[in-house]
Amino acid sequence: MRFREPAICIRATDYSETSQVVTFFTRGAGTARLLAKGTKRPRSKSGGAIDLLSEGDLVFTTSGREGLGTLIEFSETVSHTPLRREAARLHAALYMIELTGELMPEAAPHVEAFDLLHKGLARLDEPGSPTAAVLAYFQWRMLRHAGLLGALRACVTCGAAVKPASAREARRVWFSSREGGLLCPTCEGAAVEKIRLDAETLAGLEALQAAAAGRKVALPDGQAHAVNRLLAYHVREQLGKVLKLVRYAIAQGR
Ligand SMILES: [Zn+2]
Repeated sequence: MRFREPAICIRATDYSETSQVVTFFTRGAGTARLLAKGTKRPRSKSGGAIDLLSEGDLVFTTSGREGLGTLIEFSETVSHTPLRREAARLHAALYMIELTGELMPEAAPHVEAFDLLHKGLARLDEPGSPTAAVLAYFQWRMLRHAGLLGALRACVTCGAAVKPASAREARRVWFSSREGGLLCPTCEGAAVEKIRLDAETLAGLEALQAAAAGRKVALPDGQAHAVNRLLAYHVREQLGKVLKLVRYAIAQGR
């Protein structure tokens, strides 16, 4: 089958002197792994090798050898030059595409997830954009789109509302990746796999849910970093491995 889709390059490896294997996340056709013949020639139609994060209009077919489709044409419309100029923003962007590649299955369309990545990268291009907050919102939404994260307002075991009244009480709330949510002080004892939360993480999660509901809320850096650490932990537990960009993109503990 032949497709024409808006697409973002999420993986690229050399295949031969002149060709690449490129994975695109497309808007309407999900993830596509394609053989891109001749793209590394300077006079190729794509104007040279296709870079990670490159966005544009992609024409491809899905039938090919070794489970690879074939890239017919790619015209870049956004190269994300601004975000490439600063290490923190570039690392956040590379983490975003790595996570997308892990969570979005091949050939399964997910328009909302595509739009989320497209907007997230555009935000990182803006001067002075809050990198940690953009990444926190992206991780949280992408995990929700992938069906790996619930609402995080109540205990997943007993359903009790989790509303700690003080920083001390917040330290008694836990998150379990295997259980898929928050655990109240009564239920946490029974869970083997879990991570302790704190007031900053809970405030950050609350802000993200408010933002998703359309309210304008600030996500201070401290809260964004705390949420990013929690969600990166969840990703590690769910995938059973550490993503390559974690150590660059996620600020580690205090
Ligand atoms: Zn409970």
